[in-house]
Amino acid sequence: MYIYNSASRKKEEFIPHTAGRVNMYTCGPTVYHYAHIGNLRTYIMEDVLEKYLRFTGLDVRRVMNITDVGHLTSDGDTGDDKMLKGAKREHKTVMEIAKYYTDAFFDDCKKLNIKMPDVVEPATHCIDEFIKVISALLEKGYAYEAGGNIYFDTSKLDKYYIFNDFREEDLDVGVREGVEADDNKKNKADFVLWFTKSKFEDQELKWDSPWGLGYPGWHIECSCISMKHLGEYLDLHCGGIDNQFPHHTNEIAQSEAFLGHPWCKYWFHVHHLNTNDGKMSKSKGEFLTVSLLEQKGYDPLAYRFFCLQSHYRKTLEFSWENLDNAAAAYAKLVARIAPLYGNTDEEDVDDAKFNELVNKFREALDGDLNTAQAITVLYDVLKADTNNATKREAVEHFDYVLSIGLAEAAKKLLSEKAKENSGEDIPEEVNELVKQRAEARKAKDFAKADELRTKITELGYIVEETRQGTVIRKA
Ligand code: AMP
Ligand code: ZN
Repeated sequence: MYIYNSASRKKEEFIPHTAGRVNMYTCGPTVYHYAHIGNLRTYIMEDVLEKYLRFTGLDVRRVMNITDVGHLTSDGDTGDDKMLKGAKREHKTVMEIAKYYTDAFFDDCKKLNIKMPDVVEPATHCIDEFIKVISALLEKGYAYEAGGNIYFDTSKLDKYYIFNDFREEDLDVGVREGVEADDNKKNKADFVLWFTKSKFEDQELKWDSPWGLGYPGWHIECSCISMKHLGEYLDLHCGGIDNQFPHHTNEIAQSEAFLGHPWCKYWFHVHHLNTNDGKMSKSKGEFLTVSLLEQKGYDPLAYRFFCLQSHYRKTLEFSWENLDNAAAAYAKLVARIAPLYGNTDEEDVDDAKFNELVNKFREALDGDLNTAQAITVLYDVLKADTNNATKREAVEHFDYVLSIGLAEAAKKLLSEKAKENSGEDIPEEVNELVKQRAEARKAKDFAKADELRTKITELGYIVEETRQGTVIRKA
């Protein structure tokens, strides 16, 4: 597989450190509010990547953190503490907020067919690991204490900026965020590893440390949680594009300073989902969540389909119109797949044809996870010159990766149609006429069949022949 590596800024062949195994880490949510559908775009595309790696036969171990401490509103060391903000907003404790929104996040994931990572670890469970790594960084001279906090010293690195070419002047947080720059920092890019002298006097969660009572900065959690569960060599690190700087840049700085060798080889970044009215922002009242989509009558899987129609390295524009188009295309796709499940006790799978289709599917995803192309291959399956058993097998294999619930939705559609056909709510008189019409058709007495159809119509019902059989419905 070829994948765009943000660290080298080019497409590279994906070769894990240990043949056959993939150590994969994904930055998890900050659980101070519901995830918006932009956040979930990132998790959907990461889910496709994980499942595709598994599809190719690799043994993936995926770890995700839950940020329940340390993340400030600016992503750097300025602004408010997000968790504290959530707790104040809802008059709850930080831990109550964390529990509620962690559960809500995984509920959303379930609705979107996003698989649970192998390991999910909240930051607050790993304080000892953070202290261990920060102590080692201090010992090695990569960190310093100033004004009561512990900072990482970015001037100790040969190369700090990995994903972009920032200059020190660009990092004037005082100008950028409209807040005071931190005078304790020796260099503008330095970042907090541990807060003791907090600017948040009401910080709820504090732990003892060699530097006094305090709490960790945001970035240290991902390095430590990754190393705790995946060891010294990480194959693949994922996140949204906004995580590149400062979060992932800082993760690399501290991990490699601690380990003394390169840490993670491939960096996968999903570009943003945007709206033109800022509805993606959690700070602006009503924002776009999976529940909101459901309230408006959308199947969450139609949103997943919408995401898959675009490449993960392109900004995706959200609008209700765009979602409507995706939902209609998804419904059409399901309706085209449904007949494959009409009669399932026929031929064997044609292995040669099946492999040909799988190869096309792999070609699409091997090229930097081109999901839009993979969906085109799905349509090719439906058009393919082969039997239904082969088509079903291909659809189900592809849907292991795409996870848009195709077989379930197709079967559901069929059973709904069957229910309609069984004429449950249809008056006995109409059912009798339909039966007589079927007999007339069987006997090729089409004049009589037409006459019966007219009678049925006069009683306010329509009888139709479809690919799924005879359908009767109210006119
Ligand atoms: P957070 O809960 O803020 O820590 O973000 C969770 C994930 O969502 C991170 O990987 C972010 O990079 C990603 N993310 C944030 N905003 C968007 C967006 N508008 N579109 C796609 N991904 C996003
Ligand atoms: Zn992270």
